[in-house]
Amino acid sequence: MGSRNWLLGIVGAVAFGSALAATAQGTAPPQGAAPAQGAAPAQAGASSPGELVVYCTVQEEWCRPMVAAFEKATGIKVLMTRKSSGEFYAQIKAEAANPRGDIWWGGTGDPHLQAAEEGLTEEYKSPKLAELQPWALRQAEQSKYRTVGVYAGALGFTYNGEEMKKNRMAPPKCWADLTKPIYKDEIEVANPNSSGTAYTMLATMVQLMGEDKAFEYLKALHKNVNQYTKSGAAPARAAAVGESLIGIVFQHDAVVQAIGGAPLVVVSPCEGTGYEVGSMSIIKGAKNMANAKKWYDWALTPEAQSIGAQAKVSYQIPSNKNATAPPQAPKFSEIKFIDYDFAKYGSSAERNRLLAKWDKEVSTLPK
Ligand code: PLP
Repeated sequence: MGSRNWLLGIVGAVAFGSALAATAQGTAPPQGAAPAQGAAPAQAGASSPGELVVYCTVQEEWCRPMVAAFEKATGIKVLMTRKSSGEFYAQIKAEAANPRGDIWWGGTGDPHLQAAEEGLTEEYKSPKLAELQPWALRQAEQSKYRTVGVYAGALGFTYNGEEMKKNRMAPPKCWADLTKPIYKDEIEVANPNSSGTAYTMLATMVQLMGEDKAFEYLKALHKNVNQYTKSGAAPARAAAVGESLIGIVFQHDAVVQAIGGAPLVVVSPCEGTGYEVGSMSIIKGAKNMANAKKWYDWALTPEAQSIGAQAKVSYQIPSNKNATAPPQAPKFSEIKFIDYDFAKYGSSAERNRLLAKWDKEVSTLPK
């Protein structure tokens, strides 16, 4: 359903970002938190700008500078908690009768789409939509403006190059390699119920191989998995310190660790891979609705979308056409992608069905 066009938009975004990066060479990088667009600064004597409860689904290291920059720009006091994509989807559903969160920022698009379909999120047409890449806008249109794309990231895996060498193992290049007996107990991946990353993997396998073969693959992989973590990026951290040899993660999450000095090699699997449109949604019935819209507009600005890369904690492709993709971001034009069907795999029925099947047929299997 047109997702190939989204992808072309993403590839275009990278090329555009690289061009911008090239022209910006030799200019000093911006210092500190960028001023926000679309959010009025706090004025002395004005009524209190109030509060905002942010449910943040990227890494804590990225949530914090985002919150600090927004507070500085608006004077609004932010109360933030970090949880994984599937966890916040479940929490927002559980709190629907008495919402405690105002805005859900970040995390994979599928659970945001599911929340939209279930009426858990608020329709909003930001004036910033006109500045977005087609793939980010598509997320908004598909959900009847109940969610929107804020970044894109490619799924893959990473391994610790030093440990691989020490163990004299042949490094994996393909998804198929990960089921080899030599990697028994060497692979870490998150649980797809809590983690959007791991759900993206589950849905990617189904689209890549067909459902029967995908579940055979996931059962074989299970034999090599040492643990299913709650958070999707945790396996990159484990591989970085050699606790696990291999982590199945978004490639950008491995890039964060590699830039931090870890001996990680980032792999785009040879068969092809899936990707995410990281998203943002306003929670239906938000107590601080006006402030939620301020965050929403601000988070779509190029300035807000550069905070993660400036803090060296995010290497996704930003959704604003005028934002620069960090030069270290995985090169989408070099990755073989599947035609990820967001409408299908972000639907309530399909996501619930696949997760229940994974629980029943994979997670309970003995090793
Ligand atoms: N953190 C980052 C940096 C991400 O890009 C994503 C994906 O959207 C997530 C976290 C999502 O994490 P999880 O797999 O724990 O839901």
